[in-house]
Order: sequence, then structure tokens, then C-alpha cells
Amino acid sequence: MFTQAASLMQLEPGLEEKIRVCNSTYTVRFGVRLRGAIHTFTGYRSVHSEHQEPVKGGIRYAMSVDQDEVEALAALMTYKCALVELPFGGSKGGLRIDPRAWDEDELERVTRRFTYELSRRSLISPSQNVPAPDMGTGEREMAWMADAYKRLHPGDIDARACVTGKPLSFGGIKGRVEATGRGVQYALREVFRTPAVVAAAGLSGGLEGKRIVVQGLGNVGYHAALFLSGEDGAIITAVAERDGAVVNEAGLDIEALSQHMKATGGVQGFPGATFSPDSAAALEIDCDILIPAAMEAVIHEENAPRIKAKMVIEAANGPVTAAADAILREKGVFIVPDMYANAGGVTVSYFEWVKNLSHMDYGRMERRREEARHRLLTEELERLSADRGLGWTLSEGFKQSYLQGADELTLVRSGLDDIMRGAFQQMMEVKDGDSRVNDLRTAAYIVAIRRIARTYEALGL
Ligand code: GLU
Repeated sequence: MFTQAASLMQLEPGLEEKIRVCNSTYTVRFGVRLRGAIHTFTGYRSVHSEHQEPVKGGIRYAMSVDQDEVEALAALMTYKCALVELPFGGSKGGLRIDPRAWDEDELERVTRRFTYELSRRSLISPSQNVPAPDMGTGEREMAWMADAYKRLHPGDIDARACVTGKPLSFGGIKGRVEATGRGVQYALREVFRTPAVVAAAGLSGGLEGKRIVVQGLGNVGYHAALFLSGEDGAIITAVAERDGAVVNEAGLDIEALSQHMKATGGVQGFPGATFSPDSAAALEIDCDILIPAAMEAVIHEENAPRIKAKMVIEAANGPVTAAADAILREKGVFIVPDMYANAGGVTVSYFEWVKNLSHMDYGRMERRREEARHRLLTEELERLSADRGLGWTLSEGFKQSYLQGADELTLVRSGLDDIMRGAFQQMMEVKDGDSRVNDLRTAAYIVAIRRIARTYEALGL
């Protein structure tokens, strides 16, 4: 996909190769004594491009983790950050572990040890490499990492900025947990604000009433489905999970389904829905929008011809293989690429990193400023009212709504929305301005590669 996009650009000879390859991948094997025996774990941290530093990207815990996967995901981080104009290079890490097989305190010991190994090689550092959550990790793991890092670097005043996605009480930011799903919603809203794109997908109108199938009700899928159904009037007709899929043409209650999953460990037995143990088949259900939000390569050469969705929005990283991408495009399926669709997570990670480095409650300054502005306005109005005998007063509601705009969550959401809108417009400019570009993924690559190339041209290699 990269090569295809790069072939449409006039890059200096050799630069394409330099941008494409992964700079380095560190592999570590370490032992931890657990349950009376020594267990050896294999971990990776790959740095794809350091054209901007720190480099950024999640750390996943899964048995499928290997070097190829980590490198491919690190590359995607480079392009993702470039597309949404974050000042980061791309990186990714992984630990080959089944997080469900270990207790909390065991996972903590493994995570702290992994952090130590990464820290020794500057592969976790506020200025050089900033991990974040990914599949199988979350706030809890980030808190352990941040704490382990802080202990290893007691003199580093910026230690908290060594990872993002931390709990709010430990230097996190409001809206980071929901961020990737929120970004998927904003991306879809932007798509549906563009009638030509909606028509190209064979759809019409807005998001309201659109039938959506979601694969994976993890952090990303859950929030995307919750917001799209709760705020945009879309109908989640099916959800596919590990144990199977549940279908309800009238729409699934996402919050209730999530509670059911927490209580029972799966989607089976969810009241009011039809259950099928064939999870993969759910991808092929007729719908308007398919949201793969689980893992990579779930839509491949074999099942791509059977996909009936008119639009696929890649909430997961790399859910559509290159071969499947070509098949879907041939069929007229409109694909909103991962690089754009799931950039919400790293975008809010950036807000968190900036918050940590500034040592300032994000929004606090803004709140103070708003309060001062509000006071001036009130005084001015009251003076005017007294001067002219008008008897004006300002309601408490007015004051509240005025100050709400300065709340951290509101700032995070509006900042994210802004970035998602901007990136979409830039992709559309490339797509509309070059007849050889007829899909959003190629356009996204071109926007990203162009930015990275410019950095190399300005800085040298
Ligand atoms: N793991 C997420 C991703 O793939 C977030 C990365 C980050 O916040 O650095 O984009």
C-alpha cells in the first residue's frame, strides 16, 4: 500500500526506501519467577522512523506478537502521526503473553520488568520514546510503566510523560480512554458531511439510521458503537466477539451488551438478540458500515468477495490486507483507512504528553481566563444596566454554559474533532486533485509521506 502511494509521488531516489524501512527493532527475552517457576517472556520495541522525536506508539500484550507485526504497526504509527500532524515518529512494542492467563500482580511484575528492559535502551523516555496502550493493555499497565520509569529516573522531572494513556489520577487526561472510539465517530461524521463520498459508497443522507456491524467490543469498538448509536442515531445491528456474534436488526443496546460481556465473559445469551457461534461470518452480514475494531488481517483475500458492507471504517490497525483492499475497492466498497480512522488515540495521547510536560492542569489556565472574561462581561452588563435603569441580570445557566467550554474533556474533544476534520480535508484535497488517486488510503499515505519527506529534506538524514 505504501509502495503504491509512493509510486505516485516524485521522491528523491532512495528516499522512498529510507522512509519505508524500519530503523531498528529491539528484541528482549527476560525471565520472571512466577508460581514457583521461571517463565521467559519475549518482548519487542520497534522504532520505524525518528524524523521526529519522541517516537510514539502502543505496546500490545498478545500471543500473536512477533517482530513482523510490531514493525508493521510501528510503520503505521509513523504515517498516522504524520497524517494528523503530531510531532512524533513512529514506534510500536509488544510482549508475547496471554494477559488473561496471569493474575494482576503477576502481570504487574512482568510489566515492571519489561519497562526496566526498555528503559535501559531509551525505548521508554519522555523525550525519545513514549509508549501507550494497545491490544491487551490499558490504564493499569501504563500506570505500572510510568511508576517503574519514575523509580528508575528519580531526577527526571518529566518522568510522567514517559507513557500516555495513564489513569487520570496518575497524570492522565480526560477523554483518553474513549479517544480512539471518539475519533472513529468524528471520522464518520466528517465522511457523512461530504455528500460526494457518501454517494460514492452507494449511500445517502446522514449517519442517522445507518446499519452498522462492529467486530470487537473492546475499548475502541465499544466507544465507537456507543457514541454512534447514542449520539448519531446509527443502529448497531450486529456485534462480533470472541465467542460468536449477536444480531438484532432493530439495534443492539451497546451499554447493556457490554455489561453482559463483563458479567458472562461473552456475547452469548444476550437477551433480545440472535446468537451465532460463527464470529467471522458476522463480517459478511449485509450492512451500511462495517467497523472492524479487533485486530489486523481479519478481512483477507478469501472473505473479501463476500463482504456486503458499503463502507468499511478501520477502527483496528490493519484489519484489511492489501489483497482484500484491492478486492473491496473493485467492488465499490468505500474504505476509511486505519491511519486516519483510529488516529484519535494517539492524538489525545499527544494532548496528555503536552499536559505532562507543561506540568499544568490542561484547561485550568483556560478556565481561569474564562472566569476573568466572564467577570468583566458581567460587570460591564450590570454597569450598563444600572446606568440606563434596565434591570438586567445574568442567569446561573448562562454562567455555567460559558465556563463549560473550558473544561478539560470539552477541550480534548474539540481539539480531536478539529484535527480529524483537518486531516480529512487534506486527504480529500489530494484525492480530488489527482485523478490517479481514487481511494482515501492512497491519499492518506501521500499526505503522510509528503510530510515525512519534507522533514528529511529540511534536516538531512
Ligand atoms: N495504540 C494506539 C494506536 O495504535 C495508540 C498509540 C498512542 O497513543 O501512542 O494508535
